Amino acid sequence: MPGKELIGKEELKEIMDVMETGVLMRYEFDTERKGVYKVRDFEDAFRAYCGVEHALGVTSGSAALVVALNALGIGPEDEVIVPAFTFVATFEAVCEVGAVPVMADIDDTLNLNPDVIESLITPSTRAVIPVHMCGAMARIDEIVAVARRHNLIVLEDTAQSCGGTYKGRHLGTFGNMGTFSFDYVKTITAAEGGMVITNDKTLADRAEWYHDHGHHHDPALSRGQEKHEFIGFNFRMNELQGAVGLAQFRKLDYIVGEQRRNKAKMKEMLSRLDGVGFRAIPDPDGDTATFIGFHFSDGVTAHTVQKALGENGVDAVIYKDNAWHYLPNWEHFLEYKTMNPRKYPFLNPSNKGVVDYNRERIPVAEDLLGRTLFIQIPVIVSDERWGEIERAVTAAKTVLTA
Ligand SMILES: *Cc1c(COP(=O)(O)O)cnc(C)c1O
Repeated sequence: MPGKELIGKEELKEIMDVMETGVLMRYEFDTERKGVYKVRDFEDAFRAYCGVEHALGVTSGSAALVVALNALGIGPEDEVIVPAFTFVATFEAVCEVGAVPVMADIDDTLNLNPDVIESLITPSTRAVIPVHMCGAMARIDEIVAVARRHNLIVLEDTAQSCGGTYKGRHLGTFGNMGTFSFDYVKTITAAEGGMVITNDKTLADRAEWYHDHGHHHDPALSRGQEKHEFIGFNFRMNELQGAVGLAQFRKLDYIVGEQRRNKAKMKEMLSRLDGVGFRAIPDPDGDTATFIGFHFSDGVTAHTVQKALGENGVDAVIYKDNAWHYLPNWEHFLEYKTMNPRKYPFLNPSNKGVVDYNRERIPVAEDLLGRTLFIQIPVIVSDERWGEIERAVTAAKTVLTA
């Protein structure tokens, strides 16, 4: 998997710049840090790359969602529409700010289906969070259009599609705000880390203040003298994360390029399997190619292929079986197991909406995620490994025709 395969002397060099000054915090200590601002440099580079006005480094992709939701003013008594196929963090973040996450179905992109949004809107609906899963985009233009019609905020969870584009424009820039993750297994890593991006100055300020206890970061005032307009929290990215993130960011285009090459080769091999089909990708040129998604006519066949590939050293995931990326499998969630005994936000008496996480409400996800396999695309694949993959695919082909 991507960035972590390439950790090397470039990351070390950036870390050493920080260690030589000893200033590990992003704010203050301007004399001691001798011009070294890694988090700020990472933000500047990321902002320019995405073509947006504002970027804010934070401690994780989960924190990025919480910071963005707070900046957007979403909280108790609000509902937020979220696709059932996502990492659990997207739902957790909505709960974390006291709002109720409303489960939505997916389409053949395996991302949020724009056509179901309208049916889920209640007077409490404030926002929708499309999630660009497994490296590729949702029908983001259609989602934004529906949201605009109903005055809903769009927050793009781009944790799994860093570097992806749709019609030439970066994912994460279509909605009011976009968030990214740099955890250890994402396309680029900062060990842990995240980014919040937006073109809206007011939202950018609110995010910045919130993520650092309400500090205004007024260069004319010392940190101890700064005003605090809002109650915030601490989600600051530190300089060591910034250093690793910056070095990794410089490898992003290379990573995506290699993944695309490897994915094309993988697709060619998998195309030999009888009855195989591939995940719909609205703009293949903008795919980060972190995964390849392919499906068969039914779940039994998909599991047969999964077994044959697995026995030959190639792991493929069927997300309907997965405990972390598919809501109907989150037993703790279905039972409203919140840390607070009153089970807020789910049983908040002021919540007017209907909270229903029954899998019958998401027929497309139930069908497609049960017969789609995902294989992760590495950046580096040796000739020997290609040979193994080739043999695994041949084994699957044999099982299918038997
Ligand atoms: C990884 C991920 C997150 C959370 O990011 P962390 O940095 O691990 O907190 C959020 N949403 C999605 C879709 C993710 O895959």
